[in-house]
Amino acid sequence: MKLRLFNAKIWDGEKLFDGELRTEADKISRVSPVSTLDWQDWDREIDCGGNLIMPSFKNGHTHSPMAFLRSHAEDLPLQEWLSEKVFPSEALLTDEDCYDLTKLACAEYFSGGTTYVCEMYGHTRAVAKALADSGVAATVTEGILDFDGSPESIEAKIDDSVKYYKNFPARVRYGISIHAQYTCGEGTLSAVKRAVDKYKMPLFAHVSETKREVISCVEQTGETPLAYLAAKGLFDCGGAAFHCVHVTSEEMDTMARKGIAAVTCPCSNLKLASGIAPLAEMKKRGVNVGIGTDGAASNNALDMFRETYLAAALQKYATGDAAAMNAEFVLKAATRASIYGVDDMDVLVPGAAADFVMIDLGAPNMQPGNDILADVVYAAGKHNVLMTVAGGRIVFESGRADVGEDYDALKERCRAIAKRIADARART
Ligand SMILES: [Zn+2]
Repeated sequence: MKLRLFNAKIWDGEKLFDGELRTEADKISRVSPVSTLDWQDWDREIDCGGNLIMPSFKNGHTHSPMAFLRSHAEDLPLQEWLSEKVFPSEALLTDEDCYDLTKLACAEYFSGGTTYVCEMYGHTRAVAKALADSGVAATVTEGILDFDGSPESIEAKIDDSVKYYKNFPARVRYGISIHAQYTCGEGTLSAVKRAVDKYKMPLFAHVSETKREVISCVEQTGETPLAYLAAKGLFDCGGAAFHCVHVTSEEMDTMARKGIAAVTCPCSNLKLASGIAPLAEMKKRGVNVGIGTDGAASNNALDMFRETYLAAALQKYATGDAAAMNAEFVLKAATRASIYGVDDMDVLVPGAAADFVMIDLGAPNMQPGNDILADVVYAAGKHNVLMTVAGGRIVFESGRADVGEDYDALKERCRAIAKRIADARART
């Protein structure tokens, strides 16, 4: 597919200018402040009408199949919600369910301008196939925990996964992850550490999402979770820590030093009363920050506009300083994939992945256009997305997402999955 998008306002991830963008196959072939007309065999020439083209959103933490639990069991305390509602329902999912539910999530990602996700879920291969079939770029991870078996079988599982995903489309890659410190004993952690060393791969993990988790880690090990995992060498090749609501100053310095990114999930942290991650302090200390939605069960939307707004606004509230966070910082945090080890998706330049979004600058909520980046962060919503392009393919346009199959049939299958599981649970 060859696309030419002209008459655009472009934020390439660094600077704002008027111009045009061209793609060839899955890459950007040209980004230019001048429109030069030369004959080429375009598949589509799109007059952007002065609307904004910017890098797509990169959702740094999600559990895509959890879409079936959206608004399933609301307004409960965290532990009760998890152990009585979430875990028993998830236990009834099949690979086929997870494939369909992930595709449903992909439709939601595309409709909100997201084209990359850092995924953690079971039934991982079905999830990865759905992401690949939809065209979402991804790092898929398994969220290893003690439940996965002996240290030897965990090491073998990671070896097998590294091999398996070599045959996947290049946009979907494998990442090593543990679920969290509190679900991994010494044996599991040393098996994962051996894999990190062997493959020189970064590690992904939930870290310090709740106060309770931090307190019990200190009781058991004498250390806070990130410090404990880092001391064991699990982050020796960098990585990303999800949530980081209750990290200490020393841990933030370790994160900056070791190249461990903090992925904040503000909606989920608010809704589960977990707290507010100290992003302003991380920014000061040079920690890389990413933004994610977490799963639809706890959020409940997979909407990066909402997350980005809250990532900025909550810092202002938490610090009592309206200058503690700015629009450009959070927008970069929401659109960069390099912190997850993916290097060609941060900025719109020739050779980079053709992953971008067109935002309606003519909408009433985007007037008068005093500061476009501030408008995107503080005023825009997913209703302002006119088009999403993923890997050079138009995957959202005129209000419809294209995940490679009929959306209405997919939606009905997903509703049936949710009903089947709810009915089975009601009988127990
Ligand atoms: Zn999570």
